[in-house]
Amino acid sequence: MSRAPEKMEKLVSLCKRRGIIFQSSEIYGGLSSCWDYGPLGIEMKRNLKEAWWQKVVRERKDIVGLDASIFMHSKVWEASGHVESFSDPMVDCRACRRRFRADDVEGDRCPICGGELTDTRQFNLMFKTFMGPVEEDSAVVYLRPETAQGIFVNFVNVQQSMRMKLPFGIAQIGKAFRNEITPGNFIFRTREFEQMEIEYFVVPGTDEEWHRRWIEERLQWYIDLGLREDRLRLRPHGENELAHYAKSCVDIEYLFPFGWAELEGIANRTDYDLRRHSEYSGRRLDYYEESSKRIVPYVIEPSGGVDRALLAFLVDAYDEEEVRGEVRVVLRLHPKLAPITVGVFPLVRRDGMPEKALEIEEILRPHFNVFYDEKDSIGRRYRRMDEVGTPYGVTVDSQTMQDDTVTVRDRDSMEQERVHIRELVEYIRDQISSWRRPEHITEEVWV
Ligand code: ATP
Repeated sequence: MSRAPEKMEKLVSLCKRRGIIFQSSEIYGGLSSCWDYGPLGIEMKRNLKEAWWQKVVRERKDIVGLDASIFMHSKVWEASGHVESFSDPMVDCRACRRRFRADDVEGDRCPICGGELTDTRQFNLMFKTFMGPVEEDSAVVYLRPETAQGIFVNFVNVQQSMRMKLPFGIAQIGKAFRNEITPGNFIFRTREFEQMEIEYFVVPGTDEEWHRRWIEERLQWYIDLGLREDRLRLRPHGENELAHYAKSCVDIEYLFPFGWAELEGIANRTDYDLRRHSEYSGRRLDYYEESSKRIVPYVIEPSGGVDRALLAFLVDAYDEEEVRGEVRVVLRLHPKLAPITVGVFPLVRRDGMPEKALEIEEILRPHFNVFYDEKDSIGRRYRRMDEVGTPYGVTVDSQTMQDDTVTVRDRDSMEQERVHIRELVEYIRDQISSWRRPEHITEEVWV
């Protein structure tokens, strides 16, 4: 039995209710496929990007970061092949004027009204606008459809300023824009989204080995952050679905409630981009080896979407279980991703407990994202924290007032341990680093 649509609905509603994700421009009826990250959503998104940056930049000697401009010279997109080939086939309905991706419809009749469809046309997915006060052809600029090109055009700048030696990589996180014909599935496919991309430059001939290594490395990152392995798979692209620049590509797919879909693509882009930019700009974009040989490196590109990853982590973490006759909704997020790390609660609003709890909040605040709550029964406060995935709850009770110990409640097991306030920061740090996804998680059949 499929519970997929129900699950997505519940998640979308939880995200709205708890300040994770809102519909964009909602008071005006909303703007299709655009979403705003609320106070808890932005915390989670920052944690996700931080976990990626930490893994692929800070922990490695061979990768450095970059933050390139969204607007780039329009020649960039001619050289990259996007002006010519970054398009999807589309058809229009002559009767209701709806537009579809040609590969989403069967036959020559509109799937909505049954009207006649036009012939297939190519629709370029890049957003176009004008730079400066004059709207003329020479002022056309594009919103970047991928962050990668900002890296390629800076290849020499980065290599020389940082004296990088092959193999090395450049990593970037940033917004990308695609005028998708059929966006949808919440934040899975939108027209404005964020990418996390690495261009890893290697000596030609070693590219296939590096491609394999990156596929493993990236898959492991999702597993280490808690995604269930049985909902992840690798899917190599067939010949006819390869992008114009790629020699081969493998997607990491996740089993979303709406089916298997791409989380991240890891492509072997060969030397296509550096060669094309060299040709179009007239500049040498190559690498001078000590053996005094000039080579144009090949590139392996692990390219993931921040929003898609966030959706996968949310979907994967969402769980419902029965506790003492009540349904407990819990997001079993990795503590590193959870928007709030520690909830701090006085058991009751008297006997000095709120004051003590506020002191503890101040002790914890420089180290963790903390949330203080004294409203309602302690049970309800725990439930509110479970629902947004807060992994630890610190409670001040009457014993605290005597011996300076608090209880620390674990979100997943709901067990509590007594810890001295002096040891609290260290204790929580240890819990975060030893966190494992609980085994008893509810099993569901989705599709
Ligand atoms: P799809 O086949 O789903 O359109 P793609 O193969 O065109 O994706 P890539 O060009 O490989 O995607 O982009 C790299 C990553 O950027 C994707 O794996 C995805 O996580 C993210 N991404 C691409 N398009 C979108 C979008 N419209 N909305 C959200 N994320 C996106």
